[in-house]
Amino acid sequence: MKVIVLGAGIIGVSTAYYLARAGHRVTVIDRQPEPGLETSFANGGQISASHAEPWSNPATLWKLPGWLGRRNAPLWFRLHWDPAMWRFFLRFLANCRGAVSRANAEKALRLALYSRAVMGELRAETGIAFDAQDRGILHVYRSARALDRAAATAEHFRGLGLDTQALNADACVQIEPALGSARDTIRGGIFSPGDSSGDAYVFTHELAQLAADAGVEFRMDTKILRLAHMGDRVTGVMMHGGIMMTADRYVCALGSYSAPLLAAAGIDLPVYPAKGYSATVPVTASNRAPVVSITDDDTKIVVSRLGNRLRIAGTAEFNGFDDSINDSRAGAVLAAGLRLFPDCMDRDGAEFWAGLRPLTPDGVPVIGPTRFRNLILNTGHGTLGWTMGVGSGRAVADLVSGKAPEVDLTGFGIDRF
Ligand SMILES: Cc1cc2nc3c(=O)[nH]c(=O)nc-3n(C[C@H](O)[C@H](O)[C@H](O)COP(=O)(O)OP(=O)(O)OC[C@H]3O[C@@H](n4cnc5c(N)ncnc54)[C@H](O)[C@@H]3O)c2cc1C
Repeated sequence: MKVIVLGAGIIGVSTAYYLARAGHRVTVIDRQPEPGLETSFANGGQISASHAEPWSNPATLWKLPGWLGRRNAPLWFRLHWDPAMWRFFLRFLANCRGAVSRANAEKALRLALYSRAVMGELRAETGIAFDAQDRGILHVYRSARALDRAAATAEHFRGLGLDTQALNADACVQIEPALGSARDTIRGGIFSPGDSSGDAYVFTHELAQLAADAGVEFRMDTKILRLAHMGDRVTGVMMHGGIMMTADRYVCALGSYSAPLLAAAGIDLPVYPAKGYSATVPVTASNRAPVVSITDDDTKIVVSRLGNRLRIAGTAEFNGFDDSINDSRAGAVLAAGLRLFPDCMDRDGAEFWAGLRPLTPDGVPVIGPTRFRNLILNTGHGTLGWTMGVGSGRAVADLVSGKAPEVDLTGFGIDRF
């Protein structure tokens, strides 16, 4: 079958790779000169099933009033008159209810664990290199209340197959000695040894090369304007200069930009951009820099070791498609990383970046068919696109091939909204 994949981020490239392996003729279209240059470029690097709890959860609900309007809050809704933002915000609040949030977390965890298994196979088969660290992910907490809550979530996730353990502060420092200087500020942690980290951009780039070797055509520097459709079928992808490309099947993997493209075709996809920042900083003292990837619950930042660099990432800003870098918010991300790991990096060498997470109100991606019989969605991976990327790609390749995916995708469709 001829398949067009819209978007060459981690999701589109993974989809294209598995489609080609299944024997399809695949073309990927993207407006950037190379794969992986938008949200998949400089993210937190964590491949973190342990992060499956969505942002829309009961704890967010009680913290939100204090965060609203505070410019340095971990979640910042810049509320203004944007109907898409308000619709998203209300749906987000509805998903903060305990039972709903728990069910969403279960779905996200299912896909994250599947993706972890697929990633293991892919690495064994191809030897793909991306500054991977297979040392687990350690979440650290500063208050007893936050730690107790996290321990309850970890217990829930353990029952669903995630390997996690609760640790006291000393045990956290044993797992990652570079936390030593922050020891007194830490109450305890949750460690997930099966999680890992690595450079999503390098991975996307390398996987695109493997996909190209398997016959995938990449049409880069090509902006998609709209989908042409008739009745219950997409009939082509319209690009600049009146050019139209056609295929038997189309997969939409445009990250945050999936929503406006689909809206023009009459599909209401509640994916809203949540801007986050990262700082990539050269390591100057290898023995004082972490190798275990860390999540700091208090500041909501993550720190991952990528070779001789540290990637510090976090915060979320809801302000439409604005992807400009706000110096004070980017600086706050770096400062939070420096508080945890002082004296191991060259702060003057920090490279700042901002990207738009394609967030759904329930924290679960949108994967599956649409009212157009030949259009499949693989988008809305929000905070976990790197974690869920290869699993989502393989599952969608199965859907296109008419096979049942190996992971249960019940509840991932657009029909849930
Ligand atoms: C600060 C930050 C930290 C993060 N940390 C983590 C983490 O630690 N772990 C994790 O799992 N996830 C993390 N994420 C989330 C993860 O990066 C995203 O979920 C993932 O990159 C989304 O991938 P994607 O392929 O859907 O989108 P993208 O990578 O944005 O790809 C979409 C592609 O579509 C193309 N495109 C869009 N519109 C058009 C158009 N009209 N025409 C042509 N091409 C178009 C773009 O050029 C782009 O290449 C983080 C995100 C951010 C912002």
